[in-house]
Amino acid sequence: MRKKPLTPYGNRPMVTPIVNAVNYEYDSFEVLRQITDGEIDGYTYHRDDNPTVRAVEKKVALLEGAEDCIICTTGMAACTMTFLTYLSAGDNLIIFHDVYGANYKVALILERLGVDITWLDARDGQKTSDYIKPNTKMIFCETPSNPLCKVVDIAALRKEADKVGAMVVVDNTFATPYHQKPLQLGADLVIHSATKGLGGHNDLMAGAIASNKEHYELLWFTRQAIGTTLDAYSASLLERGLKTFEMRAEKMAVNALAMAQYLEGHPKIARVFYPGLKKDPGYEVACRQMKDGFGGVLAFDVTDSQEDAKKFINSLEVIYHAVSLGSTESLICIPYLTTMLYLPEERRTTFGVGLNTVRLSAGLEKTDALLADLEQALQKV
Ligand SMILES: *Cc1c(COP(=O)(O)O)cnc(C)c1O
Repeated sequence: MRKKPLTPYGNRPMVTPIVNAVNYEYDSFEVLRQITDGEIDGYTYHRDDNPTVRAVEKKVALLEGAEDCIICTTGMAACTMTFLTYLSAGDNLIIFHDVYGANYKVALILERLGVDITWLDARDGQKTSDYIKPNTKMIFCETPSNPLCKVVDIAALRKEADKVGAMVVVDNTFATPYHQKPLQLGADLVIHSATKGLGGHNDLMAGAIASNKEHYELLWFTRQAIGTTLDAYSASLLERGLKTFEMRAEKMAVNALAMAQYLEGHPKIARVFYPGLKKDPGYEVACRQMKDGFGGVLAFDVTDSQEDAKKFINSLEVIYHAVSLGSTESLICIPYLTTMLYLPEERRTTFGVGLNTVRLSAGLEKTDALLADLEQALQKV
């Protein structure tokens, strides 16, 4: 993707400049018209567009095999913009219980605005046909899902959605485009919390929605209206993260699989959730729709008690006790006490997450160091 320089210099800097401007001077009314009519590249106001953000949008689009991409302030901004852009009162939204927790709260807002919502368990993904309605406008899923890494068959969802002309939206944060390209499998939009694997260094928040040009225009309208444009500095950090994205994704998947296989055989581990394990219910579909590995996140139950899970986490020396995922360091947390904290009590456990379920996001450490860390911490349980 060689491009013209973004700067007045004769040659192109190796790094996209951080353009920290709110507004841009027009040389003349003719220039204003040319910018407005899209005849020349130009910018007006940061809420509309920014060259640093635009550069990273093109890079994420390329990764997902999309025509274009909208970058916004957070992953939840990306989810919310998607709902607001396409759903109206009276429309039905099919959404999986296993999606990122904050979507539950957004769904409450959508219900207040008159959207009809159907919640499904990802393991019942193949039964979507029982739930789809003539007014179903969108099917929204995450695969693998957070935190239990359940797998949803994207191509099968596409077939169901086509029966009523619904959109398929896939949150690809866990899989990342390194392993899975939902647009090629039939999704209309791909969403990312770019805070996670795409950024990858625990130092920025951003969201992304990749798709074709028409969807880009619709989503751009929403972003420009509500003001969820990312700042140029975060966009620059995200672009820097993308330079090592593929290397990082590859290593994370290797580490995650090694840890899942180690934990699977451990007497103090009751259950392991990772689609790369042959015994995992998602294995077959994951082999079909993912490539070069199964992502960097796994979940497991430590014995049958939360006290043991806490003791285990407190004993870790290499893996950090922190939320978030997809970063350079391995991160571990108990979703019941952290990412699911703001959900109503019954929703925190109904769909398979236990009080002792632990979510582990593999980082870039040496595989042996991670396995040794798990081993020494499990000995203390
Ligand atoms: C973190 C996360 C989100 C929300 O992203 P933020 O950047 O924290 O707003 C959405 N989906 C998934 C799968 C996530 O892991």
